Amino acid sequence: MTPAPSPNFDARPEGSPIDHLVLHYTGMLSAQAAISRLCDPAAKVSSHYVVDEDGTVYALVAEAKRAWHAGVSYWRGVRALNNRSIGIEIVNPGHEWGYRAFPKAQMLAVRDLCRGILSRHPIPARNLVGHSDIAPDRKQDPGELFDWQWLAGQGVGFWTDAMGEPRDLMQDLAAIGYDVSLPEAAVITAFQRRFLPGSVSGVADEVTRKRAAGVLETL
Ligand SMILES: [Zn+2]
Repeated sequence: MTPAPSPNFDARPEGSPIDHLVLHYTGMLSAQAAISRLCDPAAKVSSHYVVDEDGTVYALVAEAKRAWHAGVSYWRGVRALNNRSIGIEIVNPGHEWGYRAFPKAQMLAVRDLCRGILSRHPIPARNLVGHSDIAPDRKQDPGELFDWQWLAGQGVGFWTDAMGEPRDLMQDLAAIGYDVSLPEAAVITAFQRRFLPGSVSGVADEVTRKRAAGVLETL
């Protein structure tokens, strides 16, 4: 672990549990550019960790402190996820600058980092989320190339292949944890990036409805 201390943090509200883990991509051209921004007081953003493509892990903010990565956010009835989460920025240019696969060395480092975090904090598997899950109207990260299925197979986070009987999609997505007061297409897109990465359309088609039912039944 390489220290890269950021001044962009403050205290968590008193009594806040740490029970969410939020994964991001940096969405910048290089790791150094991303770390510079996450450490720039004027930018007012940060994360607890950054994981480079070669697997190097940078530590920016102590886990006990509140880093500023989630912004306006919601998951399973909880808002302002910075209060209760640890944030990991995974280096990738993102959809804007040439979105590409996450290399194996990087995924292994993300896995090991998450395992450590999960050993220190009581974070339920279904509270390991992507930024797009908790802010679907604003965010696309870490995106459909991020291999949630592999990560869950390594004991980190939730995955299922299940398909269920199609029902009311938005009702199912609300029960999974999404803020369904946001525009429907954005919420559906976020769900698809996570659980149907080959069919990211924003459309409430039958396969998406079956998938949401399957996820909900398995949770
Ligand atoms: Zn993000």
